[in-house]
Amino acid sequence: MRNQIVAGNWKMNNNTPETELLLDNLMQHVIRDDVSVYVAPAFTQLSQSVEKLKGHAITVAAQNMNAAASGAHTGEISSSMLIGTEVHTVILGHSERRSLYGETNDSLKLKVSSAIDAGMKIIFCFGEELSERKENKHFDLVKKQLASALFELPSDAWNQIILAYEPVWAIGTGETASPKQAQEMHAFIRQQIENQYDKSLADHVSILYGGSVKPSNAKEIFSMTDVDGGLIGGASLKAEDFMDIVNAF
Ligand code: PEP
Repeated sequence: MRNQIVAGNWKMNNNTPETELLLDNLMQHVIRDDVSVYVAPAFTQLSQSVEKLKGHAITVAAQNMNAAASGAHTGEISSSMLIGTEVHTVILGHSERRSLYGETNDSLKLKVSSAIDAGMKIIFCFGEELSERKENKHFDLVKKQLASALFELPSDAWNQIILAYEPVWAIGTGETASPKQAQEMHAFIRQQIENQYDKSLADHVSILYGGSVKPSNAKEIFSMTDVDGGLIGGASLKAEDFMDIVNAF
C-alpha cells in the first residue's frame, strides 16, 4: 500500500502571528494515522513551526533549497541549514519556481541530487502549461521533466521521493483537472517509472495531484487509483479546509 499524503504549500503567506494561529487551528484536529500530513511555511517560519509541532503528527517541509552546500549564494538556503532547523523535507520544482525564478530541468537535477545526498525527502513538482496540453504535448513534457531530474537516480533514492503532478493551468486558478485527467496522467507517470526502473518501485511511489484542490473536489480526485493525495496551495491556508481535504480519503 502506498503512503497517502496531503501537503500544504503556504507559499509567501503567514508571518509569525499568522503562522501561530494557523498551526493552533490545525493542531486542534486529530490527524488520522493513515495519512501523512505536511505543511511548508516560508523559510523564516520553519523553526517556529518545527518547535510548535514537536510531538504532533504534522511534518514541516521547506518550499525550496539551493543545490550548493554553502558559499556565495546571497539569499539562498542549503540542505544543511534546513536540516539544522530539523526540516528534512523540501518541495522542489514548483511551477512558480520554474516560471518566476528560472528553475530548469537541469538546475532541478542538481537540487534533487543535493537533497538526496543530504538524506532529505523531496516533494518533486512538475506539470504542463495550458498551451502544452492544448497542443497535446503534455505527456511528452511530463516525461521529459521526470527523466531530466529523476531518472538517473539509483532505485534506493526513490524512498526519498514524493511526486506532485501539478498542471500549471490548474494552480491557483480555481480550475481543476478532472479526476479522469488526473488519473490518466498519474497512470502515465507510474508507467514511466516502471519502464525506467521496475513495477515494484513504481507501485511504491506516492504521486500527489496539485491544482485547485478544495474540500468540495478532493474526495473524487483522491478516489482515483493512481492518485495518492494532494499538494494544496490556497486551501491549505485555512485549517478547516485543509483538514477537510486530509479527511477526504
Ligand atoms: C500549489 O501551489 O502547489 C497549488 C496546488 O496551489 P492551489 O491549490 O492554490 O492551486
